[in-house]
Amino acid sequence: MIPDNVKMIPKSIRSNQELIQEALDLGCTKAKVVLTQTISRAHWVKLHCQFGCSQYGKLLTCPPCTPDADEMAEILGEYEKALLINAAPDANVQEIVVALENSFKEKGYFKAFALGAQPCDLCDPCTVSTFCQHPEKARPTLQACGIDVITTVDKNGWTDLAPDKPCSDSHTIGMVLLG
Ligand code: SF4
Repeated sequence: MIPDNVKMIPKSIRSNQELIQEALDLGCTKAKVVLTQTISRAHWVKLHCQFGCSQYGKLLTCPPCTPDADEMAEILGEYEKALLINAAPDANVQEIVVALENSFKEKGYFKAFALGAQPCDLCDPCTVSTFCQHPEKARPTLQACGIDVITTVDKNGWTDLAPDKPCSDSHTIGMVLLG
């Protein structure tokens, strides 16, 4: 049995540059491997979902179905690194982060998990009272998990990006938790 304090290293672990290149090849203008301790969580973020978004409570990928800031802090504590991406304006952030999640899992990052930029629109309406119709593709947005996206982007040095309202149609920031 492997002791708890021994880290599992993915069999075919990739260099940061390879992970970044994969994101660029899929239509990102920028990608960066960041430490999860630089990902800001805040309770005020949920207020903006609850009292500023018509999707609140209507999607399985939005609050209150998603982890709040405290739960997300615990989850992020189980990861060391994440790939932060900025998609091209005409690219589909959701498709990019899900494709990266799947690819990284195949490469040994068994905990890989995608966080997107816009509320899920795969079904109309969402079967929020039962179960997800596309669990392999439906992923929450960063904001839906209590992440302060603008502060996180700033902390990681992308100060040249104009701040855009998280979850809006034009928002281009996504992330894949790595391991
Ligand atoms: S895939 Fe469909 S059921 Fe699942 S969260 Fe998205 S809209 Fe809801």
